[in-house]
Amino acid sequence: MKKVIVIGNGMVGYKFCEKLAAHPLRDQFEILVFGEEARPAYDRVHLSEYFSSDDADKLLLAPREWYLENNITLRTGEMITDIETVTRRVFTHKHDYFEYDYLVLATGSSCFVPNIPGVDKPGVFIYRTIEDLDAIKDYAQKLKHGGNIQSAILGGGLLGLEAANASKELGLETHVIEFAPRLMPRQLDKAASDMLQTKIESLEIKVHLGKNSKEIVGEEGIEKIDFTDDTSLQVDMLIISAGIRPRDELAVKCGLRTGERGGIYVNNKMET
Ligand SMILES: Cc1cc2nc3c(=O)[nH]c(=O)nc-3n(C[C@H](O)[C@H](O)[C@H](O)COP(=O)(O)OP(=O)(O)OC[C@H]3O[C@@H](n4cnc5c(N)ncnc54)[C@H](O)[C@@H]3O)c2cc1C
Repeated sequence: MKKVIVIGNGMVGYKFCEKLAAHPLRDQFEILVFGEEARPAYDRVHLSEYFSSDDADKLLLAPREWYLENNITLRTGEMITDIETVTRRVFTHKHDYFEYDYLVLATGSSCFVPNIPGVDKPGVFIYRTIEDLDAIKDYAQKLKHGGNIQSAILGGGLLGLEAANASKELGLETHVIEFAPRLMPRQLDKAASDMLQTKIESLEIKVHLGKNSKEIVGEEGIEKIDFTDDTSLQVDMLIISAGIRPRDELAVKCGLRTGERGGIYVNNKMET
């Protein structure tokens, strides 16, 4: 039997397992999956629905039993920290190691967090996992005793606007801060952005364009964001949605070729 190790149990890692489980040569492979997150793969595309349903299991792509039934060993809450390509071994954060014949990297992406002074303050969040949403909800809940909460989303792209809608639905006074002079700058021109802005503002979400954040200011949490044009915005919490970066750190560490702007270099067969 050949040993297949999959690093990452996100949407792609799961899809790979589903395909291999249904493959006619399935019996020739032993499959071991490592997922850094606490739960099996879930539907990240519909992550925002977790705010309304509050039921993480509803998002699961398959329950744990599915992996058992398909003879796939799933180790969640376990991160691979090293790959040794010569000996064909992966090492976990618990200092265990596992041997492979084939290694599948399905490590996905992480949120890009710009290096703004104060970005590490309590009250600053990212928007990618169920745990991120739990943290946002808990923080908003704690603040609610103080009346109206001002929440800002840093980034007026597709994901930022989705986060803004979720923030609004949590009952927070919501602002979107965008560095570019228009919303969804990668996809839209000025005219289209103006139309979208009208729509967003009709949802009572305030839009601030052309704003370059200089500092996140506050003593115990956030109080305001200062911009380079000497204006500022009073906020109680901030969700950063300023783009994503490929999780290629393992590839870099073990000497695999990576792209100029990050990501793992592959051929037409998706081989490194
Ligand atoms: C709120 C939101 C809305 C979205 N909406 C859309 C949409 O409408 N349409 C669309 O096409 N896309 C959307 N996306 C993007 C979509 O979710 C991603 O493209 C998709 O999740 C990518 O799947 P993936 O498996 O490659 O990566 P991920 O989902 O990032 O999964 C990778 C997994 O690998 C784990 N991992 C990484 N490194 C290690 C390691 N060293 N050891 C162990 N585990 C590791 C990570 O913890 C993660 O669980 C959205 C994303 C978000 C956050």
